[in-house]
Amino acid sequence: MKLLMERASCYNRVMIQDIEPKVFYNQYEPVSPRPGDPVFVFMQKQVMAVRKPDSIVEFPTAGEFIRRGLKENLQYLFRIDDKPYFLFLPDMYAGSAGRDLPAFADQYEFIPLTEVRKTSDMAEMFACMTGFHLHTWYDKNRFCGRCGKPLTHSSAERMLRCSACGNMVFPMIAPAVIVGVTNGEQLLMTKYAGRAYTGWALIAGFCEIGERVEDTVRREVLEEAGVHVKNLRYVDSQPWGVDSNLLIGMFCEVDGDTHIHMDREELSRAVWVDRADVPDMKDNHSLTGYMIELFRTGREQEQV
Ligand SMILES: [Zn+2]
Repeated sequence: MKLLMERASCYNRVMIQDIEPKVFYNQYEPVSPRPGDPVFVFMQKQVMAVRKPDSIVEFPTAGEFIRRGLKENLQYLFRIDDKPYFLFLPDMYAGSAGRDLPAFADQYEFIPLTEVRKTSDMAEMFACMTGFHLHTWYDKNRFCGRCGKPLTHSSAERMLRCSACGNMVFPMIAPAVIVGVTNGEQLLMTKYAGRAYTGWALIAGFCEIGERVEDTVRREVLEEAGVHVKNLRYVDSQPWGVDSNLLIGMFCEVDGDTHIHMDREELSRAVWVDRADVPDMKDNHSLTGYMIELFRTGREQEQV
C-alpha cells in the first residue's frame, strides 16, 4: 500500500479510482441496508444529492427509503472499506428509471456527474461514478433480451437470470483506448465536436469486436487524425463508469507523414501542441489528464 501511495504522489497520479488508503470491494456480497448507508438515485447523467461546503455532495441515506417502505427498491452495489453503497431501483413495471423518482426527491438537487467529479472526497466521487456504471447496467437489463420475460438477480453473484429461458446477463464493460501520439517535442491534442466537454483531449475510441487494443489505437488515430503510428506503449488504465468504459492508455509515435487530416464529424480540433504549450491537467482525475500531464512534464518515456 505504501508503495502504491508513493507511486501515486510521484506521478501526480490522482485519477478517480485512486482512493488509497481506502479499498474498493466490488464482490457481490449483499448486505441489508442500514439507515445511514448512502443511496444513489440517478436521472440521466445526474445524481440526487445535497451540496455541502467545500465541494462535498451528500447523498440520501437508506433510512429515508426504509421509512417510506422502499427497502426492496435498494440494490446493493459494493463497499469501500466497510461502507456499503446502494442504488435505488424503481419498480420494474413502473416505467424507466429517472421518471420514477422517490416521492421525497424534491428535497434534493440533481447534480451533474461532471460536477460530482469536482468533489474533494475522492472515495465518494469514485463510488458515484462506479454506481452510475452499475445503474446503467441494471436499468438496461430489466427484461430478458432473448425471450422478453423479467430478469431476476442471482443471490450469489452480480448476474441477472431469466427463469423462463435460462439466459444469464453479466455486467457490461466497454473497453476503449486513450492515445497520446507524440512527434518529438509535440503532442497530438484534440477537442471533441458537439459534446458537453470542451477542454483538451487525446485521440480516443471504442475497441471494436474482433480487434486487438493495438489495432484499435492504429485505427482510431488514422480515422480521427489521418496519421500512422509506431512504437505503441501501454501507460495505465482507468475504470470510467459514466460511459461504462474501461479506458486503456497508450503512448505512440507518429510514423511518417505528420500532416493531420482531422475527422470533422468527431473532432473540432486536432493539432500538434509544443510541450511548453501543453495545458496543466493535473486536477482532472482522468486518464486523459494524467497522460497529458506526463507529456507536459517530460515523463512520457518513463516506465509507469
Ligand atoms: Zn429469457
